[in-house]
Amino acid sequence: MATLNPRAVRGACPDLLHPMQSGDGWLVRIKPPIGGLTPVGLTALAHGARRYGNGLIEATARGNLQLRGFSSASTASFADEMIDLGLAAAEPAVERIRNILVAPLAGDDPQAAPDCLAVARALEEAVNEAPDLRSLPAKFGFAVDAGGLLPLHETAADVQLWPVQGAWAVRGAGCRRALHGTAQDAVAVALRLARACVALFRHQGERRLRHIAERDEAALWTAADLRPTADASPVVSSAGQSLGSLGYGNGRGTFGLLAPFGAMDADMLVGLADLMQRIGSLSLTIGPWRSLHLRGVPDHQVAAVSAFASDRGFVKDAHDPRQRVTACAGAPACAAATVPARHDAVVLAAVLSIHGGRVHVSGCTKGCASSTPADVTFVGHGGRYALIEAGSTVDAPVVTGLDVTAAVDYLKRHHA
Ligand code: SF4
Repeated sequence: MATLNPRAVRGACPDLLHPMQSGDGWLVRIKPPIGGLTPVGLTALAHGARRYGNGLIEATARGNLQLRGFSSASTASFADEMIDLGLAAAEPAVERIRNILVAPLAGDDPQAAPDCLAVARALEEAVNEAPDLRSLPAKFGFAVDAGGLLPLHETAADVQLWPVQGAWAVRGAGCRRALHGTAQDAVAVALRLARACVALFRHQGERRLRHIAERDEAALWTAADLRPTADASPVVSSAGQSLGSLGYGNGRGTFGLLAPFGAMDADMLVGLADLMQRIGSLSLTIGPWRSLHLRGVPDHQVAAVSAFASDRGFVKDAHDPRQRVTACAGAPACAAATVPARHDAVVLAAVLSIHGGRVHVSGCTKGCASSTPADVTFVGHGGRYALIEAGSTVDAPVVTGLDVTAAVDYLKRHHA
């Protein structure tokens, strides 16, 4: 039977073996394997979500799937099944630190770095086998980019690796300098930066590498005993291209989908796995935009995927207004919420035009669904919403005490 170490504190980072109590029961996260979930794995995960939890599944900005509504007993049974399938590590300390976000098309897009998956797997193996890294915060993570058609935009990951003209570059989040070298060097440098953080976090009481780098980047490189060799060039966001069909020019391509407001039920995932099997798509990855990427879709099956997406309610078009609305679960799923944030997001999205800005609906100031500013942010408080213009959940509101009807009126007058 799997060993569980429940997280009692809201804000702790849950995983499969560290479930977190929420308003609708235990919440667990599955970290998909590098290279993605196969249709078999996806089906097992979705069936488990329905059998052991309440069937609600959310894609996260770290490329994970979050499953809700478990009990402590059902979490243990589900964890056993997922470990047997190779979808989680059996050791809680390893599962906790196994946080590697990989570019969603790595290993599929012929224009992406061909060794990206090998680098990511070598990094994962090294991290798993490094007991000295287990004191890092559960939020500490790595990102491995692959370039190509859908590169990662600048992620929140603490240590970032990306391909540069046949070589690899590594930097810490917020660093202006990077270190270039071979794929093997890149893994070694990433580990050194992580080890430097173990010591720096302990001495400085810090929990994010970015904060150290922004304060004193040289101290980070010195603590890692490394000397950066190049400027870290800015990374261009590719979030806008992540939805719909993207062809590789070789008869295959990818199709990106978004679950409305990041949430779907188990039946939607089972349907997706069935579709993958029918069309010969071998794996599905999750991007940092909460998007689901069917990989290896034959060009002649694009119309079938598009029809499936419309039929099952997935967002498949960057101009779909739902794509611009972010919402957390809200009430009743989350005990901290006094407003049904996701339910209200559906109402608010319906009044947005295709040209409007981004809207964030949050059940409370914690802002689980997004920490970045939106054009309009609604934050629940005492059963009503506070409204923030051009800010995040922690900024000062311009209006408070709105019910959803008043919120709709505001959007219609100012942002529709
Ligand atoms: S932001 Fe939403 S999901 Fe997160 S704690 Fe607040 S109400 Fe709950």
